[in-house]
Amino acid sequence: MKFQPTASHFINGEYVEDTAGEQIDVIYPATGEVIAKLHSATPAIIDQALNAAQAAQAEWAAMSGTERGRVLRRAADIMRDRNRELSILETHDTGKPLQETLVADATSGADALEYFGGLAASLTGEHIPLGGGDFVYTIREALGVCVGIGAWNYPTQIACWKGAPALTCGNTMVFKPSETTPLSALKVAEILIEAGAPKGVYNVVQGYGNVGASLITDDRVAKVSLTGSVPTGRKVYAAAADGMKHVTMELGGKSPMIVFDDADMENAVSGAILGNFYSSGQVCSNGTRVFVQKGIKEAFLNRLSERLATAKIGDPLDEDVNFGPMVSENQMNIALGYIEKGKAEGARLVFGGARIEGDGFYMQPTVFADVTDDMTIAREEIFGPVMSVLDFDTEDEVLARANDTEFGLAAGVFTNDLTRGHRIVAGFEAGTCYINTYNLAPVEAPFGGSKMSGVGRENSKLAINHFSEMKTVYVSMNDVEAPY
Ligand code: NAD
Repeated sequence: MKFQPTASHFINGEYVEDTAGEQIDVIYPATGEVIAKLHSATPAIIDQALNAAQAAQAEWAAMSGTERGRVLRRAADIMRDRNRELSILETHDTGKPLQETLVADATSGADALEYFGGLAASLTGEHIPLGGGDFVYTIREALGVCVGIGAWNYPTQIACWKGAPALTCGNTMVFKPSETTPLSALKVAEILIEAGAPKGVYNVVQGYGNVGASLITDDRVAKVSLTGSVPTGRKVYAAAADGMKHVTMELGGKSPMIVFDDADMENAVSGAILGNFYSSGQVCSNGTRVFVQKGIKEAFLNRLSERLATAKIGDPLDEDVNFGPMVSENQMNIALGYIEKGKAEGARLVFGGARIEGDGFYMQPTVFADVTDDMTIAREEIFGPVMSVLDFDTEDEVLARANDTEFGLAAGVFTNDLTRGHRIVAGFEAGTCYINTYNLAPVEAPFGGSKMSGVGRENSKLAINHFSEMKTVYVSMNDVEAPY
């Protein structure tokens, strides 16, 4: 395949291979074909990457913010110039339609590099007067070597959402992509070097969970930022706690989307489509529990079905296609398993519900109605194109039910009643809320979850606090008074 990285790892400014590591087959989800064979990092590779990141950190942190920012902004420009080839690679890695990857992956990675690059020169501490001439000043310092661990749904975006704020603050990074989609992060590393980043500032090593685990526990590492599932988050958080390391956890969800009977029906259906079927439903913040007020339920389901019937399912490299395969056979089987559970537990299948036969990992967009709160499909994260529609009568009732979950990643409401919209989001137990829209994640706004869905925030100025810490310096302008 064209544009493919030339080796498994990228360390200290160059591609590195070690075939002693366990083989990782990269499969194109649209055909089931193996498109690349990589190798998991051996202990020697992990050591090499951490050493490179550690050696590069002091020099990188000593550069001015303006200089660091310039590197990131140049990298953003290169990514935009190569958007098409990076998008084609991302489509091969993930199976997501090119129509999506052209606008949501390298472009959003470039946004992060540009935004954090722009902030780099204005990262400062404070001056705090204490009276009598004494004062305190604070110095914003980098944490050191940061580890990023990625999920498979947005490989380029995740590599940049973690790398850009980390590097801006003067940290260096060792990034481990998901073993399912290992290719794109290597391109991010390559581009950063081309943009002028010193060697060792951003390194990529491949591997399964065990490689991630050995990175976190290493003494050279100051922070870990994970995007992944709640069970992995628990393990990573616990391992980081042992070394008192900083963490950011971007984990799973089972987010509610509430549609009141005064909502604009067409917008509500659009929101439900975006929040359930974009990237074949493999988006962490998806609003997979769609609560629809009783009076408009059938109208909502009819319009939704009409519009889903027009989805173009097929070859993801065809730019007219807007619904691609699942990322892997395993993920497809997980989602199909949930469809069987939904049927068995008495939900009404309204649309789809089956695999699309062929070599690729395609399944139909699927909608269940008459779902109740206790059904498995309403409680567990499916991470596939399976929407549950639940009925409700009143505002108080639906808010309580929407919050009745261990997750707290996102939540949305569709209503034309202004005060009700704000009242509902004030009551949502979720980190990222939407009124009359769904699933936006621009770099300017904080993104992340509460409850079991995460710790910390990505994007926005808040991310800076998660990749730096303050040193407090007391300065006395007077004599020191001691009691004896
Ligand atoms: P996953 O938890 O299986 O794996 C995530 C990453 O963690 C992978 O790189 C994996 O190799 C690594 N890993 C696994 N075990 C580990 C361990 N013990 N120590 C260190 N690293 C380990 O998740 P996935 O299947 O790749 O991705 C899907 C999940 O990610 C879903 O739950 C989804 O909601 C979540 N997600 C969250 C966000 C967000 O921003 N909140 C974004 C995308 C995906």
